[in-house]
Amino acid sequence: MTRPVRVAEIDWTEYDRRVREERPVVILPVGSLEQHGPHLPMNCDAVIPTALSERVAARTGDLVAPTLCYGYKSQPKSGGGNHFTGTTSLDGETLIRMVRDIVSEFARHGVRRMAVVDGHYENNMFLVEGIDLALRGLRRDGIDDMRIAKIPYWEYVTQETMDAAWPEGFPGWPLEHAGLMETSVMLHLHPHLVDMSKAPDHPPADFPLYDIYPTDTSRVPWTGALSPSVAATAEKGERFVADYVDGMTDALIEIFGSRRQDIAAE
Ligand SMILES: [Zn+2]
Repeated sequence: MTRPVRVAEIDWTEYDRRVREERPVVILPVGSLEQHGPHLPMNCDAVIPTALSERVAARTGDLVAPTLCYGYKSQPKSGGGNHFTGTTSLDGETLIRMVRDIVSEFARHGVRRMAVVDGHYENNMFLVEGIDLALRGLRRDGIDDMRIAKIPYWEYVTQETMDAAWPEGFPGWPLEHAGLMETSVMLHLHPHLVDMSKAPDHPPADFPLYDIYPTDTSRVPWTGALSPSVAATAEKGERFVADYVDGMTDALIEIFGSRRQDIAAE
């Protein structure tokens, strides 16, 4: 059986039927338009959670909403900073309102289960606020049974995959910006968008514990990548993706009682 998992590719009558009869989880991937070094495209934070969400939805019979492709302002210690050409960001208030409005609209359709899958570190609390304001508004409208999960995909990785990817030690997720994991995953998902001849091999960025505003970008490597990625391979990317899809699928089953259906996605 093959059927679409993307909300935007379903006609409204079939969408209405699926919402009413199947009570799917609607997964909302959120990313950014942000530089990811000289070797990766600027859409990494959007296309990675999108691909993972679609693979999860194909397994569980759930749906994926169109991805939010802009995110909160890049920070030096997690995304290189907002000063790079190409990095195109939203004010926090804008992101909060987009999430609030989208959640409220899905609730109006009858959706009562959602999962927000974030691909961009800096979005975190703005997504929480958008979710919280939506739920507060829905409660005032008499809708009190909406449940929303927020899923940080990168945490769903096994120790074996971590050890194989970083035999010399893991640099930490913030410094992984445009590093080995994202580069490997992109080599697996979208190899035509990666140019490994430009992959940085400089050491990981070295930041103080504090932050300064206006932001201090003097310790940000010129490449925009915060850790080296020359050891990235498509094989490592495949292992990461398999872990992430397994972990996210298990999370939806645990939270919402989604069932493993293994429907082939279109
Ligand atoms: Zn990224």
